[in-house]
Amino acid sequence: MQKQANTSIGCTVSQCVHHCKEKNYCSLEKINVGTHELNPKVVECTDCESFRPDKNCCH
Ligand code: SF4
Repeated sequence: MQKQANTSIGCTVSQCVHHCKEKNYCSLEKINVGTHELNPKVVECTDCESFRPDKNCCH
């Protein structure tokens, strides 16, 4: 089934099961963004906590 792109959530992480492969959007209605740092200061400190690996990818 074709995933519905949520044009409010741009994403280039094509290795995620929720990514719309031909378009750089997420297919979820809502995602959670968090951090793995105590005191985040740069973009690399933030994470998409809704990420799930695509089993058909990354082998
Ligand atoms: S869940 Fe996060 S990483 Fe996965 S496609 Fe959506 S925004 Fe990207």
